Amino acid sequence: MRIVVLGGAESGVGAAVLAKVKGFDVFLSDNGTIKDEYQQTLRQWEIPFEQGGHTPERVLNADEVVKSPGIPATAPMVKALHAQGTHIISEIEFAARYDSAKKICVTGSNGKTTTTSLIYHLFREAGLDAGLGGNIGKSYAMQVATEKHDYYVLEISSFQLDDAYDFRPDIAIITNITPDHLDRYDHKIENYARAKFRIARNLRPEDCFIFDSDDAITIAQLDEIVIKAKMLPFTQEKEVPQGAFLRDDKIVLRYEQDETEIFLQELALGGRHNIYNSMAAALAAKASGISNEVIRSSLRTFSPIEHRLEPVLSIGDILYINDSKATNIDAAWYALECQTRPVVWIVGGTDKGNDYSILDKVVRQRVKAIVCLGVDNAKIHAAFEKIVGSDKIVDTRSAAQAVQAAARFAEAGDVVLLSPCCASFDLFKNYEDRGRQFKEAVRHL
Ligand code: ADP
Repeated sequence: MRIVVLGGAESGVGAAVLAKVKGFDVFLSDNGTIKDEYQQTLRQWEIPFEQGGHTPERVLNADEVVKSPGIPATAPMVKALHAQGTHIISEIEFAARYDSAKKICVTGSNGKTTTTSLIYHLFREAGLDAGLGGNIGKSYAMQVATEKHDYYVLEISSFQLDDAYDFRPDIAIITNITPDHLDRYDHKIENYARAKFRIARNLRPEDCFIFDSDDAITIAQLDEIVIKAKMLPFTQEKEVPQGAFLRDDKIVLRYEQDETEIFLQELALGGRHNIYNSMAAALAAKASGISNEVIRSSLRTFSPIEHRLEPVLSIGDILYINDSKATNIDAAWYALECQTRPVVWIVGGTDKGNDYSILDKVVRQRVKAIVCLGVDNAKIHAAFEKIVGSDKIVDTRSAAQAVQAAARFAEAGDVVLLSPCCASFDLFKNYEDRGRQFKEAVRHL
């Protein structure tokens, strides 16, 4: 049987290695360039590959195709495969066929990496043997091919779910659903929400579904479908019979007959959004039999992840925070909302159709000056110039310029927050590059 893998990055190379280990005739094809490290892996495993284009004769003869999540369904080769009826699956679908470990899978618009990393930390602290994968670090398929774990904690994008059919987590989590990547879903939020809910379609009664019951889009979608699993909502708005909620200054976890409390001030991660993430992670741990003591201590000892409200340096009592991963409005809203000091806000980049009016109120309350960091900042000026004043908003085109401009606006007691609510591709390679250049510029002040 011939497996063709489309896309030669982390997930594609992992899938190709797994296919090789399982004895298939494998071929990998990428229409861009494949990074050296991945080429090396392919050679080492004696997997034939091509780059810079797809040769139809070598792709269309596949019995099954594993498509990388970055390749849209509208790509010509994908259309041709569909037209001839070739089965196309994602890397997680392929890998799960060869894996009997328990899977805790996290999807959603924001908070996936934070929640996945928190759960992994909780499992490790509990002494369980877990692999961390999906969009973080080593691909799931590569781990199934070369390692063995009792559990996998996987961060899963909706693109991975688009081509998943029998994939079934033991615990599925949707952190929240807010507009993002709508371009891939015909600009319809229902399509995007439905794609996220594919994570729950194969759940059985003994499995768990963990979700944000304060999230209107999640709740609307739940009205449309039947989920057979144990339902564990998390909420900051009301008490729930099972799940997580707030009581005074504590998180209450209710799971089966057990109830336990965690003080908010004990959480390692600050901000309202991280209360949600901590609740989701704690419920996943609880449902996996991890003790209350370990849950409590692990939520206390977790360290912030790079580019997510990451404190960089305090210079003259001005705190610089790197939230470069905030690539949409919702993430930036939470970042601004949790600030207790006046904010000089660095914002901008490639706009994905943002509606900035959602931020009006929080900008009014928290932001004293704005530094635009992008090629086209017209929308940001239009949205906020009247709020902060035309002398308190400037344009910059590099991380160094942005940091210097922010430092000029800031006074002792302020925060300089990079939380761009845009993608980074106009001026940077990716959000990591933007975050690292920002930190570098701060260190040079
Ligand atoms: P993802 O992997 O889904 O992109 P991350 O954990 O990397 O999520 O966080 C991305 C951005 O969103 C960061 O700026 C972070 O501060 C913010 N964020 C994290 N969790 C949430 C949440 N539950 N709701 C809204 N924003 C969040």
